[in-house]
Amino acid sequence: MQWEGVIKHYFKYLPVTEKTPVVTLLEGNTPLILAKSISRRLGKNINLYLKYEGLNPTASFKDRGMTVAVSCALERGAKAIMCASTGNTSASAAAYAAKSGLTCIVLIPEGAIALGKLSQALLHGAKVVAIKGNFDDALKLVKEITSKYPIALVNSLNPDRIEGQKTAAFEICDVLGEAPHFQAMPVGNAGNITAYWKGYKEYKDMGKIDSLPRILGFQASGAAPLVEGYPFKNPETVATAIRIGNPARWGEAIAASKESDGLIEKVTDEEIIKAYKMLAREEGIFVEPASAASIAGIMKLDKMGFFEAEKGSAREVNIVCILTGHGLKDPNIAIKESSPPEAVPPEEEAVLEAVEFEV
Ligand SMILES: *Cc1c(COP(=O)(O)O)cnc(C)c1O
Repeated sequence: MQWEGVIKHYFKYLPVTEKTPVVTLLEGNTPLILAKSISRRLGKNINLYLKYEGLNPTASFKDRGMTVAVSCALERGAKAIMCASTGNTSASAAAYAAKSGLTCIVLIPEGAIALGKLSQALLHGAKVVAIKGNFDDALKLVKEITSKYPIALVNSLNPDRIEGQKTAAFEICDVLGEAPHFQAMPVGNAGNITAYWKGYKEYKDMGKIDSLPRILGFQASGAAPLVEGYPFKNPETVATAIRIGNPARWGEAIAASKESDGLIEKVTDEEIIKAYKMLAREEGIFVEPASAASIAGIMKLDKMGFFEAEKGSAREVNIVCILTGHGLKDPNIAIKESSPPEAVPPEEEAVLEAVEFEV
């Protein structure tokens, strides 16, 4: 049987009824992949799993929230949807708007959007406006405009987005048969960390799992308001999806880390790119830089001795890293980090020499 998308699959846990016009691209049901090589680096009894959210229809986790937000907006009679975006929200909103027939309006910070994401929004027919300002400026404008007109705001300030995104936590528990011990993820506007924590708590309340994971959130050091404790006026990082200086769900993010006995830490761009390459080379998984922040964070914590107690214990320890978006979203970074091949004569010898292949 074909997977039917997160609304149908988790219907009773979501703010929908039989009357809700479900707009779906069959998002969700993404694989939980055991990262053998990285697990080995961490320790014998540690299993590091990758929740590969880049395999959603528009190649990021935003689709889980967007299916619910757009379906509910349609049910409430919205004429259009609108968002501010560092890229993936606009790609997702544009696709679900296309599927539903709603108009989609997108505000992006000028020049700060990865090429792959912008082309998605444009190709799906969104009305894209670049503003001379950053993401936080764009979001402020979207809030003002959507409060005055029959346009639904589909940023993660919209609670329906959180409801949809919590299904990823359900999926992890459904696969593992329990919650992981730790969950690591990048944090930008902090909608997703809010959603996962809500999902785990609901599953525990319903008796589906016995324990909760410790939530480990990671920000880029150039955009680390939650770590430093103050908004960043000019956030800067190679990980454009988390280049956010004043997270909308600040309080919820801090609560998720505190209540779960977790933390919110920062990683440098250098550490992010190192993890980005490690995932590609050792695990065969291509993510966009923001997603690699979760792996960079685990590597940093490991170096600091954070997992020492776990390594000494007899139990198996499960860590899940959320890989939020696909690598093809940001082709410029991938190209910048690889050198193009040198051309050789079309001869066997030349080819074997070029690849330094020895029998
Ligand atoms: C949106 C996004 C994030 C950040 O999620 P928040 O909910 O804003 O914290 C991280 N990675 C990718 C790829 C994203 O698209």
